[in-house]
Amino acid sequence: MESIVHQPCPICHSNEGLNLIVNISEIPYFGEHTEMTIVCNSCGWKNTDFIPAEGKKPSAWSIIVSSADDLATRVVRSSSCTVRLVELGLEVEPGDNATGYVSNVEGVFKRFEDAIGIIYRSALSEGEKGKKDVEACEELIGKINSIKNGNSSVELLLLDPMGHSQILHQKAKSWDLKKEDIANLSLGPQIPVFDSSDLDDSFKMAT
Ligand SMILES: [Zn+2]
Repeated sequence: MESIVHQPCPICHSNEGLNLIVNISEIPYFGEHTEMTIVCNSCGWKNTDFIPAEGKKPSAWSIIVSSADDLATRVVRSSSCTVRLVELGLEVEPGDNATGYVSNVEGVFKRFEDAIGIIYRSALSEGEKGKKDVEACEELIGKINSIKNGNSSVELLLLDPMGHSQILHQKAKSWDLKKEDIANLSLGPQIPVFDSSDLDDSFKMAT
């Protein structure tokens, strides 16, 4: 389903309307979910989010990644989700441009590696001044590689105040977030079209 939403673009503030594309589909073990993509034709800004039909309580998901097999574990990350690699002290908070994705543990690692790579290259270009950062990045990449090879382990933790994210594995644990936990979390982009009344209408139209 495709429609125009009459909201200004949060990035370029164009009033031409945003293009909203809604797909309802099944992800194995995750169940029915709605994939919403919103596109601004003026500046090209794009945001995708995944919203499950059920289970929308503020929640945490955790898995200890300890073998190469665990890398294939499916991960659904919504745009309101904070992602942590606990023992490595790494965290991605949902910023204003956060986007949802369906991936696996290896894909989540890849996103961290890419982010470390950017810092690494910039530190390298600084020569002596960037030496400490270069070493820190090399150490982190080494640790991630050791986890990927099954030689060490890390806890992958998802914290989602909207309850849209999941780790799809028997080993994964889930629990409700408390109010005080939520107070410390970023909520990600606050786009009016993503509120629940709009979503319910889309469901009705599509079914
Ligand atoms: Zn725009």
